[in-house]
Amino acid sequence: MRVRMISLSEQYNSIRNDIDSAVQKVLSSGNFIMGEVVGLFEREMDNYFGIKEGSCITCASGSDSLLLALMAIGAKEGDEIITTPFTFFATAGAIARLGAKPVFVDIGNDYNIDASKIKEKINSRTIAVITVSLYGNPAQLMEIKRICDENGIILIDDAAQSIGAKIEGKHIANYSHISTYSFFPTKNLGAYGDAGMVVAKDDGIQRKIRMLRIHGAESKYIHSLIGINSRMDTIQAAILKAKLHYLDEWISRRREIAAKYDSELKGVKTPVVLDGHYHVYHQYTIMSAKRDELMDYLKGKGIESQVYYPLPLHLQECFSYLGYKQCDFPFSEAAADKALSIPINEMLTDEQVEYVIDAINGFSLEQ
Ligand SMILES: *Cc1c(COP(=O)(O)O)cnc(C)c1O
Repeated sequence: MRVRMISLSEQYNSIRNDIDSAVQKVLSSGNFIMGEVVGLFEREMDNYFGIKEGSCITCASGSDSLLLALMAIGAKEGDEIITTPFTFFATAGAIARLGAKPVFVDIGNDYNIDASKIKEKINSRTIAVITVSLYGNPAQLMEIKRICDENGIILIDDAAQSIGAKIEGKHIANYSHISTYSFFPTKNLGAYGDAGMVVAKDDGIQRKIRMLRIHGAESKYIHSLIGINSRMDTIQAAILKAKLHYLDEWISRRREIAAKYDSELKGVKTPVVLDGHYHVYHQYTIMSAKRDELMDYLKGKGIESQVYYPLPLHLQECFSYLGYKQCDFPFSEAAADKALSIPINEMLTDEQVEYVIDAINGFSLEQ
């Protein structure tokens, strides 16, 4: 048996008619940039999140969504932004790209930034905290939003892996000032190319982001800000709008598989899911001291697995100027050594899930 991390062609085949007709409509319309369906998709996302109309603003990628969010709050040289070192590069990359300084705080047992360690890093230069709701598991957004509000700083949640995740029944976009999303093809809601979205609650920030994504133009060829070119292609919006109808069903299947892993995998540790948090399992990640051996063993059985992420950001060469060293963030470093994500996606069959469980339990028994 072969078990893949994700099979995009299999997913496409299951919804082929919806996708083909959505794409055909765009091709016939001839309107490829900021066509009507871009706005329609944005309004459907407002509705999906249960957030004020106009909050969802699409752009060209998840990385750009972080950049646009930070540009909109005026991040610049001399500013500090607190974030986690255990994330995809883009989170801290966007901060540094604007000349601001990433200030890292270690993760807790949910593998997201540890809320109890944030306050001590806030000073007069701090303008924002970027949490990352990693693997589909919401960060401690309520607690961190309270800390941000008390200190007059902005909370941005990098929700690239967590579309559909909730806290106490409400979508996580409702708990931060700004949240950012990626529709990279392998994300839970994936485009067929690059695409992203910023969600901002404040009208003024929304207006800025709408301008910033089209070179800061207020109206055609009249520029009040210096922005970037970061629009979602009409074709991608049409694809995402068609796929959005399946998202909750797909998430339910991921959660069903996760529940099976939780109950049947013997003696494996996974990130804690806090009370009231609705995890959407972009990844199902287990911790193993023999991670690399386990990975090879699974490969031998035809089971794919992936390491997210092997080197925390504070130890990346490009951030050496920040002066961090090994042992600064022990939990992030341990996670980077031990984390292994195993197959979870809506196309997996029960037989495949059982096969993965048996394989991993077999490995544990051999130790
Ligand atoms: C995927 C991802 C991004 C970047 O998204 P792109 O669309 O690939 O630019 C940013 N942050 C996190 C946590 C991600 O997983």
